[in-house]
Amino acid sequence: MALARFIRSCEEISPRLLTLDPDIVAPLCTDWTRRVTGHALGLARPSNEAELAAVVEAAVEAEIHLQLQGGNTSLVAGATPWGDSVLLSSARLREVGDPDLTSLSITAEAGATAAEVNAALAPHRLKLGVDLASRESATIGGMVATNAGGIHVVRYGPMRSQLLGLRLVTPAQGAIGRLSPLYKDNTGPDLAAIAAGSEGTLGAVAAAALKAVPILEESVVALLSFGSFSAAAEGARRIRRSPAVSALEFMTHAGMDLVSRHLGRELPLAGAVYLLAEFESAFPLLDHVVEVVEDSVPSTSALAFDARGRAELWRWREAHTEAIATAGIAHKMDVALPIASLEEFVSWVEGPFAAENPELDVYLFGHLGDGNVHVNLVGAEPDDLSPDEAVLAKAASMGGSISAEHGIGRLKAPLVHLVRTQAEIDAIAALKAAFDPDGILNPGVLLPTPKGRHATENLAPGRLA
Ligand SMILES: Cc1cc2nc3c(=O)[nH]c(=O)nc-3n(C[C@H](O)[C@H](O)[C@H](O)COP(=O)(O)OP(=O)(O)OC[C@H]3O[C@@H](n4cnc5c(N)ncnc54)[C@H](O)[C@@H]3O)c2cc1C
Repeated sequence: MALARFIRSCEEISPRLLTLDPDIVAPLCTDWTRRVTGHALGLARPSNEAELAAVVEAAVEAEIHLQLQGGNTSLVAGATPWGDSVLLSSARLREVGDPDLTSLSITAEAGATAAEVNAALAPHRLKLGVDLASRESATIGGMVATNAGGIHVVRYGPMRSQLLGLRLVTPAQGAIGRLSPLYKDNTGPDLAAIAAGSEGTLGAVAAAALKAVPILEESVVALLSFGSFSAAAEGARRIRRSPAVSALEFMTHAGMDLVSRHLGRELPLAGAVYLLAEFESAFPLLDHVVEVVEDSVPSTSALAFDARGRAELWRWREAHTEAIATAGIAHKMDVALPIASLEEFVSWVEGPFAAENPELDVYLFGHLGDGNVHVNLVGAEPDDLSPDEAVLAKAASMGGSISAEHGIGRLKAPLVHLVRTQAEIDAIAALKAAFDPDGILNPGVLLPTPKGRHATENLAPGRLA
């Protein structure tokens, strides 16, 4: 009954809005890592904000769950539909405005990818402050919803820091917010900032006004190898003080070796731990970078000054996620640690944890400059949460976060209590109730679904409290 009512409403909004064709819907029901496959009743693809708002209203009236999806590159199954949801995709919300060269900003609809927005900015020697390896697929809506981080957080901050304005469609308030390019606007709590990182649980992003940053002409990428994590951490501490640093990443030998086989290329340097540092400036950099690199005392190093050389060195870092995906279905833990505790955490994962779990292949890499480690475990059953829980509990016990940048999604929703008190969880649930009182949007994402009218499961039966 509810679905029939929803279908009728969608047909009235636009005959091409909703499809129930399983050949189109089913491929969108598996997450990027292939760890989780869900199910959706149909797929709604609005073409503009008015259609988006009308779909959300129709879902409220028919009591149909909506699962929001952008590029479906979530690494925590945040975009995977579950139970009796209809997928609400931003695939047809693709418009990118002309860059505003006075305020240095750009407006884009939710379904535009990071690469598409950068293509509009590049002729003006501008770019987005956030960049990530999934740039060809990750959308502005998904990046806002997850408060995406990526490789340049160390310089420009995450997605929340790029937001000047937002149009958000909520079940309770309809379409709210504005796309003005104001750099300052202290009229009460910042709705755009609240929506950033809320993982589609408060509203559907229709469009965003984003800062643009200048492309700096001088750019050098350095790949450095070290004999131990502790030597690399000391090197990173020195590099991080350079005002020209725009990325500071780390990889270990296991991951580099996997990438070497995946790409069919010889390792460029031998080492146990690698740093990849990117330096950018409007002024000549050579002497500065050589000085910083020498001061960080690597075993060996390679520097690249031209675009091709820089891309080749970056490939060693960016191919990690795809190379690990070829090794098996990875359990991905994206943790943040106080930078001073990174070494202790990495030693625990590679030492006691790996020894207790000999069946697991462990691959570590991440954004060292932000204290962000991606722990990838290959060899566990997809629905076994115990290795995830052990790693996340360790990070939490050391004052870290169980989600540095990927979000909580469905996979980590049962574990939020590791880093949030019950009072904090209640506050987040109260925020959800204010924007989405009937729990229409993304049930089971971010917070375990409360029992009741719209209850669904997060991942597997028996895993929820
Ligand atoms: C190879 C690879 C590298 C990656 N590197 C990084 C990285 O460096 N840093 C990083 O932060 N992430 C990274 N990711 C994760 C992922 O790309 C980001 O989380 C990205 O922001 C997701 O964008 P998306 O459009 O694919 O969103 P989806 O995966 O479709 O959705 C993600 C979440 O956002 C919600 N959502 C989607 N669209 C909307 C909307 N319009 N309104 C409201 N909510 C919405 C979904 O419901 C879901 O909860 C990487 C992923 C891959 C595959």
